[in-house]
Amino acid sequence: MSNKRLRIVTLPGDGIGREIVPPAVHLLGIIEAALGGFKLEFEDRPDMGARYFQESGRDISPEAFEAARQADAILMGAMGWPAVRHADGTEISPHLRLREEFQLYAGVRPIKAFPNTPRRLLDERAANIDMVILRESTEGLFYTHGKGEVIDDREARETLRITRTTTEKLCDTAFRIARGRKQRNPAKGRVTCVDKANVFRAFAFFRKIFDERRARFPDIQADYNYVDAQALDFIRRPWDFDVLVMENMFGDILSDLGGGLVGGMGLAPCAELGDEHGLFQPAHGSAPDITGQDKANPTATILSAAMMLDWLGERHGVETLSEGAALLQDAVEEGFATRALRPMEFGGDQGLKAAVKAVTDLLTAKLAARRPVRAPAM
Ligand code: ATP
Repeated sequence: MSNKRLRIVTLPGDGIGREIVPPAVHLLGIIEAALGGFKLEFEDRPDMGARYFQESGRDISPEAFEAARQADAILMGAMGWPAVRHADGTEISPHLRLREEFQLYAGVRPIKAFPNTPRRLLDERAANIDMVILRESTEGLFYTHGKGEVIDDREARETLRITRTTTEKLCDTAFRIARGRKQRNPAKGRVTCVDKANVFRAFAFFRKIFDERRARFPDIQADYNYVDAQALDFIRRPWDFDVLVMENMFGDILSDLGGGLVGGMGLAPCAELGDEHGLFQPAHGSAPDITGQDKANPTATILSAAMMLDWLGERHGVETLSEGAALLQDAVEEGFATRALRPMEFGGDQGLKAAVKAVTDLLTAKLAARRPVRAPAM
């Protein structure tokens, strides 16, 4: 089998980011060795983030930026450190520039309840929460981010922008994600357009484009919800949703609400996708309070790495990448279900190293189990 070569840039960043990216890379190496069909060439770039800013006065080196541009995918840890700031008081976040420069318009945030992790809703059905928020990430109400107008001390303005080009691509991404989920689970396969089309023309425009694009995916169900009703439904019946597509600010708010419904920060993976680039990272920050203490939960980074494999698999038509993604995801799921994975974040006894070992053992067992059984030696 020929191996598809893929360049992955790792940007570990700060704090626990530097602790959790290397084990995730190690897990990817195990998958590569066992499944074949691809070769991941890693380039580690520590020259980005708050620590690098302290050393150099820059938040990212031009070399790291270029390496990220040239890469087939970017795996990021966490950026920022509260004590290290720009002169204007803002935190070090070169990530926002990567998002803008690489036009990472599709922010994919899976919201999934894992067994034996904290639940915020008492209803039994909360164990079945399994949805994906697709947050547009380059326009919407963030369009004038940093350029908003303060007219005088009595008035300030920001502009919300919805474009056809981005919305079409965003909706197509939502329907494709739903299609992939339906293949894995026939009960899935629905996209909900979350908007405020009853009040704003911009959102009526967003919905019109959603309707145009849904016609191209007749196998996928489509419906709508107003954003205020959606917030209510996240508390009343979050288990009923599959893929939800929405404007930037709505996605910003609802993805935190969604994340809050299932477990803690250490569980939330994220993919930021453009036409040419994909950036994968845990949704949590650098967690200075637990850095250097072997306490971080690596799950979100491991799940982000799984999303990266899945995205690369689809993009390059390499089945073993997609298979590896599914096995890694399954290893985490089984870890929680059997209590083999017990991160300290949820009161468990496993620090970072022990949690990584638990996932490694489960993954290795799954990889071994999928191999054809050899005939016993005579
Ligand atoms: P940022 O603004 O950089 O996104 P934040 O203010 O959301 O960061 P985090 O760094 O994500 O803050 O940390 C919030 C809390 O969650 C902290 O108490 C931190 O220790 C905890 N936390 C975050 N990530 C993890 C993790 N992977 N494992 C365990 N605890 C975590």
